[in-house]
Amino acid sequence: MKKIVVTGGSGFLGSHLCELLLSKGEQVIAIDSLVTGNKENIAHLKENKDFEFIKQDLVDPFEIDCSVKQIFNLASPASPLDFLEIPVEILGVNSVGVKNALDLAVDKNASFLQASSSEVYGNPLEHPQKESYLGNVNCFGPRACYDEGKRFSEALCYAYKEKHGLDLRIARIFNTYGARMRPDDGRVVPAFISSALKGKPLTIFGDGKQTRSFCHVSDLVNGFHKLMASGYQNPVNLGNPNEKTILEVAELVKKLTKSESEISFSNAMPDDPVRRKPDISTARKELGWEPKIELENGLSKTLDYFQSRL
Ligand code: UDP
Repeated sequence: MKKIVVTGGSGFLGSHLCELLLSKGEQVIAIDSLVTGNKENIAHLKENKDFEFIKQDLVDPFEIDCSVKQIFNLASPASPLDFLEIPVEILGVNSVGVKNALDLAVDKNASFLQASSSEVYGNPLEHPQKESYLGNVNCFGPRACYDEGKRFSEALCYAYKEKHGLDLRIARIFNTYGARMRPDDGRVVPAFISSALKGKPLTIFGDGKQTRSFCHVSDLVNGFHKLMASGYQNPVNLGNPNEKTILEVAELVKKLTKSESEISFSNAMPDDPVRRKPDISTARKELGWEPKIELENGLSKTLDYFQSRL
């Protein structure tokens, strides 16, 4: 039986995807450098005979000695704190790392799904963002390692599709949340939930009027699965179009945690996108996919996870 490779397989998204694929009867190899991935995320899969873990940084050469039918390339740090701490590694994994994963796909004649990002749109001047929007990205700033890394990765995938006839999928992932996010990774959902549970202030960067649209991880990995099955070779937005201000998110987290924490304000992050909301008409039409989990329900599930950890 041909296997499925998930790079970044012990990370937040990767571990949920491995679970989904195993539940569908697939044999899965998770590859992870453990730079931001965490083996605890896949500890419960260790005894599963259809699951294998390989500790491997994608930027170093590697081989896999079995037949592979699909590769989901999810390996990359993704939090703004990572952008400040390990920007060179982020550029490396989104260039050399993607190239190594693509070479594996060509060698194995495997289909390839690249985890791209809404960050390819930068601070968007079009709203909501369609896949046809070309973006507004600063290539010389603190987010550039990720934004340009993801843009480069799409260009590389396109080149492999044209040159090698690669069976390609590109998922442009919008803000996603859920269990197994690192409590200290700096992204807004874990940051607000951790602060609220500890009775610390929920700190908003800027005036809180900036917007994001939050997708629960279970919806997202279903989207990955449908995209791989679809045969659609152009980029697809995957996200939840329910747009909220960051102030609304802070208030919702306070309500759900019944926290007395204050909401405080500090300086906006440089190049912070002002508005973000996916247009998901391509995903609806081509994949028959749309998210199902409402933010309040999804945040409650996430809260249970953080409560059990803190
Ligand atoms: N944010 C915030 N407080 C935090 C963490 C994030 O106000 O503790 C803001 C951040 O400036 C941005 C939004 O929340 O405007 C979403 O940030 P996140 O890092 O989760 O995702 P991204 O900016 O990559 O979409």
